[in-house]
Amino acid sequence: MPRPIEALVHTAALAHNLARARQQAGDARVWAVVKANAYGHGVERAFEGLRAADGFALLDLAEAERLRALDWRGPILLLEGVFEPRDLELCSRLNLWHAVHCEQQIDWLAAHKTHQPHRVFLKLNSGMNRLGFTPRAFRAAWARLNALPQVDEVSLMTHFSDADASRHGGDGIAHQLAAWHEATHDLPGERSLANSAATLRHLDRAGVRADWVRAGIMSYGGVPDYPEHDATHWDLQPAMTLRSRLIGIQHLQPGDSVGYGSAFTAEAPMRIGIVACGYADGYPRHAPTGTPVLVEGLRTRSIGRVSMDMLAVDLEPVPAAQIGSEVTLWGQGPRGTRLDIDEVARAAGTIGYELMCAVAPRVAIRAE
Ligand code: PLP
Repeated sequence: MPRPIEALVHTAALAHNLARARQQAGDARVWAVVKANAYGHGVERAFEGLRAADGFALLDLAEAERLRALDWRGPILLLEGVFEPRDLELCSRLNLWHAVHCEQQIDWLAAHKTHQPHRVFLKLNSGMNRLGFTPRAFRAAWARLNALPQVDEVSLMTHFSDADASRHGGDGIAHQLAAWHEATHDLPGERSLANSAATLRHLDRAGVRADWVRAGIMSYGGVPDYPEHDATHWDLQPAMTLRSRLIGIQHLQPGDSVGYGSAFTAEAPMRIGIVACGYADGYPRHAPTGTPVLVEGLRTRSIGRVSMDMLAVDLEPVPAAQIGSEVTLWGQGPRGTRLDIDEVARAAGTIGYELMCAVAPRVAIRAE
């Protein structure tokens, strides 16, 4: 018997979330963002649920190859473009669209002997200051790209840093949107601005919907603006469940403590369960006592420190729990119950994105 921990990828939930993105996007087309191995879900498994997308956006050529191997013939966009000149060859062969965010990438294109012209998404750094041309340099880059015989279509993109929150004295995107309009208003070409947060919150703002939205976390049922809103508010369904079982039961007396560092001490007699899930499975080690967990679909809390292979839970709310009882660390529990990954992430001081991406290779993942 393998350790009783597994991750499930819910294809129907992926399809539902994609439909939500589409509903929000209206006339715009939807990229399903499947970088980082589809946010930990696995490119192949995610594709099963997201195949109705208009295109897939990712970073790694290897992941693009995996999509083509699934017979996906539609658009694939490399969100960071190519990392070295020889990647352009594979771009041509796999017919990939790619972002261009720096002069060097234009140099590489100019030097590339290609048969098939490239479609590129010129990236504006509208204020996030990660990748992209500054508004000042943007036009010159656009003109350079347009003059290249290696390029047949120049589209435009940018990325928001705060679409999930109201910062900078505005709605989180106002300053970037102003920079975007200033730099791009009279340029032709398709456009893409919105990530999940902007797709959920800002598509009523002029120009944000554009031609393509890029739905990442929302495709997986994660909420970019949690806790201001939750998955129920946005009608998103968890696409990943991490579940395990109780492998031990202990009865504590007042003064007894649990686990490394004796981080939790019982104040009254209590029954606790030991779950086959630890930080080596990708569960966050910093999840403190009180992090929500479902046992047999009933909500309880973790207690003490998370160790490499185990964590402990309070069985007070689940008197019938015994060895073998099902434990939901996040996602869909038995009998229609559910524990949103964002809630667990917040308790552990992180975000749902990180938890999804961190499920460890030793955890078997399967689609259902
Ligand atoms: N577009 C770009 C350029 C990104 O880097 C990302 C992810 O960080 C996304 C879209 C998707 O973002 P989200 O998962 O918040 O929808």
